[in-house]
Amino acid sequence: MSPRGPSPDAVARRRFPFVIFCAIPHIPPMPPPIDLEAAFLGPLVAGRTCGDCTICCTVLRIDTAELDKPAGTPCVHTNGLGCAIHATRPQLCRAWFCGWRRMATMPAAARPDRSGLLVSLDYEKSPRNCLEGVAIVVRSLTGRAAFEGRLAEDLLDALCGQLVPVWLHDGAQKVLVHPDGEIAAFIFSGEPPPADLRDEVAAWRSRYAMFG
Ligand code: SF4
Ligand code: SF4
Repeated sequence: MSPRGPSPDAVARRRFPFVIFCAIPHIPPMPPPIDLEAAFLGPLVAGRTCGDCTICCTVLRIDTAELDKPAGTPCVHTNGLGCAIHATRPQLCRAWFCGWRRMATMPAAARPDRSGLLVSLDYEKSPRNCLEGVAIVVRSLTGRAAFEGRLAEDLLDALCGQLVPVWLHDGAQKVLVHPDGEIAAFIFSGEPPPADLRDEVAAWRSRYAMFG
């Protein structure tokens, strides 16, 4: 264990006995199509607002005709309090919201600027496997320790109960944690699963084979 806490793969091993590891550089997401985001994450949660949070204006890559900024760099329009061009901000900024704004099952305390965890739906143009094309990614903003503790456990419990892949990303390493590694291995290999896993593997394959 490092002084900064366990790595996401260690967290994943403890939580899920089988995981798929991908040591990759930090690949920021393309902003997902809005219809997919709403379909996978749901509508906005009533009563939740961004407040003082501006995390997505720094952490995520924005690559549109209206605005182009790299990941991990504050948008040129941030003013320390919010968006300096709020009234005329790009359409993507008007329509995009993180997982915390869209998923009522996520703990109220999981607001990204307070929890150090940013949940987003990522869309990869060139996925390495069928579970990476459209997937929920949980980014640690404050180091590996953000994946530890009760809040992270509750957050992952909220995210891992549906037929949507979930990855942990600490900025250097991206680890698949849902579905678990045993299920994922059957999905990737195409091998026939045992009877007790057959329905679950079939459901994942049916929904995500198009991305493989
Ligand atoms: S990260 Fe989420 S809560 Fe924070 S500003 Fe963006 S949409 Fe709002
Ligand atoms: S234009 Fe405004 S809302 Fe959009 S990323 Fe920049 S600061 Fe955030």
